[in-house]
Amino acid sequence: MIEAKPLKSNPNVNCLDGKRCPECGSFGPFELVVSLRILLRDSGTDDAENSSPEYGEDTRTVCHSCNHEGQFADFEDHRA
Ligand SMILES: [Zn+2]
Repeated sequence: MIEAKPLKSNPNVNCLDGKRCPECGSFGPFELVVSLRILLRDSGTDDAENSSPEYGEDTRTVCHSCNHEGQFADFEDHRA
């Protein structure tokens, strides 16, 4: 069965694979409120050994274009 091609295919193939703002249709970028491990010293912060940000489908996400806010899972491109 041949399905109709979407007007604009989702260009995201990496971190935002299949993601799109449900409000304005932006493909990103999006702001995510993540947890991050840091090394806190009296003088300030340093990156900890394992300092990569942690996020998942329930992470609070804000569209950089329209400020729509939801969970990362809400930003799934259902047309893809
Ligand atoms: Zn948006």
